Amino acid sequence: MYSEDEYLQLSGIQHFAFCRRQWALIHIEQQWEENFRTADGRLMHERAHDSSLKEHRGNIIIARGMRVSSAEYGISGECDVVEFHRDEQNGVFIRTLGGKYLPVPIEYKRGSEKETDCDKLQLCAQVMCLEEMLCCEINSGYIYYGEPKKRSAVEMTGELRKSTAALLREMHELYDRRYTPKVRRTKSCNACSLSNICLPSSEKLSAAHYINEMLENDL
Ligand code: SF4
Repeated sequence: MYSEDEYLQLSGIQHFAFCRRQWALIHIEQQWEENFRTADGRLMHERAHDSSLKEHRGNIIIARGMRVSSAEYGISGECDVVEFHRDEQNGVFIRTLGGKYLPVPIEYKRGSEKETDCDKLQLCAQVMCLEEMLCCEINSGYIYYGEPKKRSAVEMTGELRKSTAALLREMHELYDRRYTPKVRRTKSCNACSLSNICLPSSEKLSAAHYINEMLENDL
């Protein structure tokens, strides 16, 4: 169990899965560079978190910007949206809502569905927090993609949970050592919001070294 002052930012898991170095630059070295993708994504999250947009839809109550944390995994953060579906049979009793509900988190992303699992890992970390806080089991959640403005269901498989837990453990290990991994060029660098901060130091690499690295990473 982690104490609260050891908690890492939940959303960092998406950076960590994308590139360990990117995560370390943001979360250990506190460097951040905003480009179009991050600015647009931030605006989308602000809209999702706008607490003036409260909704009750039939048997569903929608909470926005809900704070979540997990002592077991040492993380805290916010869920963009959590829908509480009234379910007297399978739901968990939530005193403030006065009934039994199934929580279903929804993470908002600006772009389209990615080939990597970065978004799913973030959603799974949210699920693990909600399960710990509400003593319940959540079997699925959703990721809403700005393109094509559609929700995609994500099942919380044992494999996804295992990968999420392993990444969170690794994040804590790197953070405890305050270790920033060295540059490792991959295709991800082309879409990286920190490439201007990160890559100049790698320009000293010879062209041959760079080409070898690219070929290795493509295999
Ligand atoms: S530019 Fe590449 S190596 Fe550097 S932080 Fe971004 S993805 Fe990682």
